[in-house]
Amino acid sequence: MPIWHNAERVRPGLRDAKLYTLVFCCVIALMPLACGSDDNAPNDEQTLDDALSEIGRFTPVHLDTAALAGAVRAEQPIQLPFQLPLERQEGAVVAREVRLTLRNLRSPELTAFVLKDGDAGSGSSMPLPPPATYQGKVRDGGVAVFTITDAAVEGSMLVAPEGWSFIEPLEPQLRLRNVDPGARARLLRKYNHIIYNTSEALRGPELDDDPGTSSSPVGPPQPPSPLVMSMVADGDAALFRAYPLDSVMPFWLKQETVLNAVDWLYNCVEPDANAHNTYANCANDFDGGSDFFQARVRIDRLEVWTTGGPDASTRDEVLAQSTLMTHQASPLCCGPPHTAGQSSLVHFFSGRVFTDGAGIAFVGGLNYYGPLCFDTVPRTCHHGVSQIVPGGVAGHPYPGTAFFQQLLVAHEIGHNNNAPEVQHAVEVCWLFDEQCGRPLMDTQGGFSSRSLYLHDPQEAERLMAPLLAERLGGALSNQ
Ligand SMILES: [Zn+2]
Repeated sequence: MPIWHNAERVRPGLRDAKLYTLVFCCVIALMPLACGSDDNAPNDEQTLDDALSEIGRFTPVHLDTAALAGAVRAEQPIQLPFQLPLERQEGAVVAREVRLTLRNLRSPELTAFVLKDGDAGSGSSMPLPPPATYQGKVRDGGVAVFTITDAAVEGSMLVAPEGWSFIEPLEPQLRLRNVDPGARARLLRKYNHIIYNTSEALRGPELDDDPGTSSSPVGPPQPPSPLVMSMVADGDAALFRAYPLDSVMPFWLKQETVLNAVDWLYNCVEPDANAHNTYANCANDFDGGSDFFQARVRIDRLEVWTTGGPDASTRDEVLAQSTLMTHQASPLCCGPPHTAGQSSLVHFFSGRVFTDGAGIAFVGGLNYYGPLCFDTVPRTCHHGVSQIVPGGVAGHPYPGTAFFQQLLVAHEIGHNNNAPEVQHAVEVCWLFDEQCGRPLMDTQGGFSSRSLYLHDPQEAERLMAPLLAERLGGALSNQ
């Protein structure tokens, strides 16, 4: 049974002064934890609230990650903390039972991640631990998408009617927000994760990333077939510093975790799923994919520059650099050059705070690498760029949490897959129409608590699904 620790936390930095939270400390399948050790300096809680103030209301928790990982590997159900919104049970944290199934996104050839030393012109690879990306069901209805390792839990649960609750490791968030090492160490002894409900997320920056090119013409939809959207994840030296190998969330695991969410978007959550309740049934057989809007994600490469590589401070320049340099990178260690050109998409995860917006991508570039990547107007190519770390223009900081990372990367991949920026979009709804909001491609005023992880059904049917069928079908799908 869950063991609850009522640790009353005053949250002075937040909207409601009488907020308090439960410390979700130990749950079934978790070993007892060192809760209640009281070595926090008095100001540490304030430091925590201040550091994460831009993400909205959140609850810090301590999870026994090793026990959770062991239980999930043994295919046992686990209990995870779910953040209720304030209007339900005063915003308490409740336990949800989750049954997860391994969702291995890796190509059979992907057994190592690649470190590219641009200064030395060399590279190396290191073996990947076994995959730890899962998807599954929440008991009594709902979907769960998680990475669970011995050191970290990151992902989300979508439950009617309480909405979308995230869990992610605290360590990167504290480090990337420059919390001093002493307070960081003390806080991390007490808490190792944060949870939050996306309905209480604060607004992110305006994206304004529609390059203005017209969408690629496509033919009528083709009959459905198993489509594979193969991916190369690259990143800059700043990403390597932001998510280093000794973090609970090293760069390659962050890339893999976000791409698991993208896979969920294209296989389980999809525009017309609600009518058939598909969202609640996407367990082992992942039965989403109505209206041809389905493509399984396969990861071909997980790589990063340790030095050199794309280094511009604007998303536009980094997109151009990645378009060239990801394909040039061919460390002797790591097989033939230019293999990125064989993948449907290349997504560049940046650890830089861009000065001109958080992300950008070529529209309609799915599975295309060639002359149109460089000097032709309109340009199109299979590349996209997303800022992964917190930070941005004054007044509209990019929060850089798992929620915003997923929205941003999926939005940019949406552009690659032919979705234009939509303005004044129709509402989209999930959770049996209990929650309605803005689709992924509507970023006017920035992503917000009203952003849902859904494409506009009409745009998906009219523009995206035909491109998926055309570009990922047949010989191009790299199956
Ligand atoms: Zn956009």
